Amino acid sequence: MATVLEQSTAKLTDEQVTSLASNIRGATIEPNDDQYETARHVYNGMIDRRPRAIVRAADATDVITAVNFAREQGIYPSIRGGGHNVVGFATNDDGLVIDLAAMKNVFIDVKNKTARVMGGATWGDFDHAAHPFGLAAPGGIISTTGVSGLTMGGGVGYLTRQYGLSSDNVISANVVTADGKAVTASENENPDLFWAIRGGGGNFGVVTSWEFKLHPVGMVYGGPIFFPVDKGPEILAFFRDYIESAPPEMSGFFGYHIAPPAPFVPEHLHGVAACALVMCYTGPVEKGEEAMQAVRAAGPVALDLCGPIPFPALNSMFDALLPAGLQHYWKADFDREISDEAIAVHNEYGPQVPNFLSLMHIYPVNGAVQDKGNGDTAYSYRDAKFVHNIVGIDTDLANMPARTAWVRNYWEALHPFSAGGNYVNFLMDEGQDRIKASFRDNYPRLAEVKRTWDPDNLFRQNQNIKP
Ligand SMILES: Cc1cc2nc3c(=O)[nH]c(=O)nc-3n(C[C@H](O)[C@H](O)[C@H](O)COP(=O)(O)OP(=O)(O)OC[C@H]3O[C@@H](n4cnc5c(N)ncnc54)[C@H](O)[C@@H]3O)c2cc1C
Repeated sequence: MATVLEQSTAKLTDEQVTSLASNIRGATIEPNDDQYETARHVYNGMIDRRPRAIVRAADATDVITAVNFAREQGIYPSIRGGGHNVVGFATNDDGLVIDLAAMKNVFIDVKNKTARVMGGATWGDFDHAAHPFGLAAPGGIISTTGVSGLTMGGGVGYLTRQYGLSSDNVISANVVTADGKAVTASENENPDLFWAIRGGGGNFGVVTSWEFKLHPVGMVYGGPIFFPVDKGPEILAFFRDYIESAPPEMSGFFGYHIAPPAPFVPEHLHGVAACALVMCYTGPVEKGEEAMQAVRAAGPVALDLCGPIPFPALNSMFDALLPAGLQHYWKADFDREISDEAIAVHNEYGPQVPNFLSLMHIYPVNGAVQDKGNGDTAYSYRDAKFVHNIVGIDTDLANMPARTAWVRNYWEALHPFSAGGNYVNFLMDEGQDRIKASFRDNYPRLAEVKRTWDPDNLFRQNQNIKP
């Protein structure tokens, strides 16, 4: 199978690592250290790699030191933000990881409604810091995901229809480039780099901090509404049509799930397949019930968990169901439309969702995302209205062949109805052709920016753009 993972052949010696460690203000974690077992793992439990050294940077200077070291020793470092990427780019065998987990502070400027977010912060850190001021930015729906990786691929969440992608809300970023320089990327400074890091992934340097635009979002009206699985076609057709012209403050996603044996789920639904609309309304919370009426009327409601909720609580509602360390296999595509034929495919495979961890989600990427054009930032599918993700998850590796088979069969049946490329943050190890299809018409310009900022492809532990 084609692999996008490219390890360096150079091997680090003990002397080299000792010398690196003596120049690092944070921690340099090595295989004999107590923290090593935790530090070497990423979110996807299928990834089992053993780096030679993990530099847990204290600041941008540590990042510069580690980048210079990697370049001088001829190794390709892994950069770790939240460690959520399912391919496991954030760890490697025998090499160097530059881990930003200790750089997670978030500073809120209430007057100007902006946030300065360090490169290792998660969306939970972001929401925690911004919420007391009644502010937020579009981020992911699981709070343990890294701000950096998610933003560099685009960034889709509950606020996306209203305020655009996470990357559309970036004002500037501080970046350590392959030659070890610290530069700022914004509309006015290094605009080519600024264009590329908003959708082009981690190809261009290490982002040590971001400056984000914030929006007034505090209490919202949201949560999941479950419907019987046999109503899937009606509910999905409703969602497709409704979300096309719903007000910007209304968003959500469609999903197939098996109801978990959780205390908030009535016992008669435990283990039962269902379809769901997981909604978020950011208008005045007292108007939420009225605003949600159309959604509740879409079919016979099996379980309604939608109501007033603080935005950070909605954005972390599913964290406990999806802890780090589970086995994950994903396949996804953008969709320009969801045709009735595509709905028939969903109705064939969605109800077969094999266990309560696995899922299929369809996220809307219309609304404010489509205020920009495909070439305005590196995010390349602004003409797509949806992105679907079919996700096989299990606690047990032995079950993964069956989970993977469900994902692959579902994806293959649906792919002909898709826009042809994938959202880079949902790509697995799918080879160069899929990377090119996902960056699409922006690929040549991304390669040009890569030639400018990383001509030797130091940063290649990612969905790699060849210089
Ligand atoms: C449970 C779960 C939920 C998710 N939900 C959403 C969602 O709601 N919306 C969405 O859009 N996506 C979502 N994703 C996908 C997510 O956007 C990607 O997995 C993303 O790559 C994660 O970023 P990270 O920083 O956590 O991961 P990492 O694995 O640390 O990094 C991902 C990539 O970015 C690079 N990188 C990370 N930090 C930096 C940095 N500071 N500078 C330079 N490069 C860096 C890494 O080298 C790697 O190539 C989800 C993923 C998971 C596992």
